[in-house]
Amino acid sequence: MVARILDGKAIRDSVLAELASRVEQAAHYGIRPGLAAVLVGEDPASKIYVRNKIRACDRIGAHSETLRLPAETTTPELVAVVEDLNGREDIDGILVQLPLPGHIDAQRVLGCVSPEKDVDGFHPVNVGKLASGQACLAPCTPRGLIEILKRSQIQIKGRHAVVVGRSNIVGKPAALLLLAEHATVTICHSRTPDLPTVCRRAEILVAAAGRPAMLTREHIGDGAVVLDVGINRLQDAATVHRLFAHDPRRLEGFDKSGSTLVGDVHPGDVAQCASAYTPVPGGVGPLTIAMLMSNTLAAASRRTPADAPMRA
Ligand code: NDP
Repeated sequence: MVARILDGKAIRDSVLAELASRVEQAAHYGIRPGLAAVLVGEDPASKIYVRNKIRACDRIGAHSETLRLPAETTTPELVAVVEDLNGREDIDGILVQLPLPGHIDAQRVLGCVSPEKDVDGFHPVNVGKLASGQACLAPCTPRGLIEILKRSQIQIKGRHAVVVGRSNIVGKPAALLLLAEHATVTICHSRTPDLPTVCRRAEILVAAAGRPAMLTREHIGDGAVVLDVGINRLQDAATVHRLFAHDPRRLEGFDKSGSTLVGDVHPGDVAQCASAYTPVPGGVGPLTIAMLMSNTLAAASRRTPADAPMRA
């Protein structure tokens, strides 16, 4: 059986094209959805993430702005910035880029974002709504998983999904969203005994452990659909050559650049055992920003009349 590769970039492109046309529709009501990104300090990875989010806004025609604050910003100062954004009519989504510098009380800051503008879905009100099955702004990476499955016509209802990882930003919300789609859900974590046996029962296997290539053929049931959330950078040549022995192009790229990305699933094993899987890179990752845009539009739709076509 040749496994189907679930192309996250192609799915992202179609999501963004649909969102762009909804932004156009919103313009008929004099509304331009707006996202504010708050970046504290100089973390290089965070700068890249924020830049990519702003680019996605440009791509769909939404308004965006980045508020850059020095690393010494205090918790009360950051709270004041967020509260100012809460009060602005032209800003629908507020994104506080994590991680925040260690001296800042991240929970307090995230708790100050208005739940209606909480496009990351981290506010306790949205977490509670998600857990109790109410409409809400849900976290972007888990939403991306559901989007990939639906747009690939992969049935969720009635199937057994196993989620490896129970973090608040990926594992738990992914499990809740799968449950809302009527999957039977098992959540695994570092204390789960006999992980391979539990994982092998999965018809849909979600890997979100943050451990490079941890899930191998002994974890993947024949014909499972495998969604790999993990993003791990590898620099060790022996490991890369072992994991990508089947992929000469990847090895060539590694030999040139000195690093490569791998997910939480063994890339060679998944291609042999799964019926469909997301590659790393180019699988789950691209959907995260697309879902951020989708959440921003959902937040903006509260400014439009109830019958407006931009309401998804
Ligand atoms: P966390 O480190 O917060 O959580 C990891 C989870 O995996 C924990 O629940 C942990 O269990 C579990 N785990 C760790 N080791 C094992 C093990 N050996 N067996 C079983 N379970 C294990 O990570 P995140 O959820 O934030 O991220 C997971 C991965 O997804 C990372 O690689 C991250 O880079 C990536 N990511 C990708 C995104 C994207 O856009 N594609 C977005 C966000 C994250 P326990 O709770 O018991 O410690």
